[in-house]
Amino acid sequence: MEMEMAYDGREQRRKCDCLLFDLDDTLYPVTSGIGADVVRNIQAYMIDKLGVEESICLDLCILLYKQYGTTMAGLRAIRYQFGYDDYHRNIILSLPIRKVVFTNGDKIHASRALKRLGMEDCFQGVVCFETLNPTSPTPLPANKVEIFDILKHLAHPEPGVHLPKSPILCKPSIDAMLQALKVASINPQTTIFFDDSARNIQAAKQIGMHTVLVGSSERIKGADHALESLHNMKEAFPELWEEAVKDEDVRNSRGRERAWSSKADDDKDKKAL
Ligand SMILES: [Mg+2]
Repeated sequence: MEMEMAYDGREQRRKCDCLLFDLDDTLYPVTSGIGADVVRNIQAYMIDKLGVEESICLDLCILLYKQYGTTMAGLRAIRYQFGYDDYHRNIILSLPIRKVVFTNGDKIHASRALKRLGMEDCFQGVVCFETLNPTSPTPLPANKVEIFDILKHLAHPEPGVHLPKSPILCKPSIDAMLQALKVASINPQTTIFFDDSARNIQAAKQIGMHTVLVGSSERIKGADHALESLHNMKEAFPELWEEAVKDEDVRNSRGRERAWSSKADDDKDKKAL
């Protein structure tokens, strides 16, 4: 497959110097069981800790995911009160290009998933939930907060009433994408972005990244390529391996990564994430 990287004004081909990977359903498929576990944990949390009725939990979960990018961002938007830590308790190695994971999941989930995949040492960094949302708010008392009835709002929208904005930064928000690139010192013009979500792919395309939809062989709007699985990556992008070997800058990428991750994480976290 021919790779169509961005060209500058003089029509010189820009080399890829970073691969940015989503985690869930991209680095591993749902069939591995981790994805299903996460969905079950989210629903259990909503029912047990937030008092959401079991009969509407799954529908609410899906609806909030669709509206806000993650169920958690939606729950905060409609005014459920919880701390972020509490909520979230629940072939690549051979490529000498800087590799970073960008997940909406928290760092414990990312660490566990990467460990389970045996890929802890494959990445120079992880941009995760805590990277974009470093401080957890102090929840207001339940009697001070009126939960926004999103089911009613979407079924019968009232004039002048808008969906509340979530305070949480996550994909596919453009603000979240830009913040992730800034924190990790990533140039979108020289980065390939891998994700299974059509919305995330479209957002990445909007800010100039080269995009690969994972988990499908059919390209969608905003996707430069579509790959059934990352296992096909070497066949799809042989030039990455060839070009990277020649590029001395790549060998310095690990050092750059340490510079940003060390601000927020201790040595143990840095190793895992
Ligand atoms: Mg995903």
